[in-house]
Amino acid sequence: MAYDTNNIFAKILRGEASCISVYEDDKTLAFMDLMPQAEGHVLIVPKEAAENLLDLSEAGAQACILTTRRIALAVKKALGVEGIHVAQLNGAAAGQTVPHCHFHVIPHATGTVLRMHAAVRAPDDELKVLAQRIKACLA
Ligand code: 5GP
Repeated sequence: MAYDTNNIFAKILRGEASCISVYEDDKTLAFMDLMPQAEGHVLIVPKEAAENLLDLSEAGAQACILTTRRIALAVKKALGVEGIHVAQLNGAAAGQTVPHCHFHVIPHATGTVLRMHAAVRAPDDELKVLAQRIKACLA
């Protein structure tokens, strides 16, 4: 299926929709998930128009995994959690809801259960505070 240029992450990348950004380089953008499965849930997207990992170029995939690792380290430090959940869904059948490739970095503290996927919107002011804490921990 052709890439849908009207998906929300494509709009964010074009500056037509807002996001609470954490990190950006020439190939990737990282921002707070609006409906986090845990406090500090960050999404990493390639700037390339690719619906999922299988459509992404090798260079795009390399850039995404490097940014994902970088964000995971910062999130772990900022939130002080023992575990980090990294997830990446490909296709609606696998649960993907936004058709632009993305990686989830979700803090996972011992003994906690992650919230439902894409279910409850967090207040922007809370997300902004968390974004600042994560940015401060980026190497
Ligand atoms: P997927 O189901 O495609 O793997 O994940 C999509 C993610 O995007 C979900 O975790 C959902 O909470 C998040 N999301 C959906 N719409 C928006 C939005 O407009 N802005 C942001 N920052 N996150 C979104």
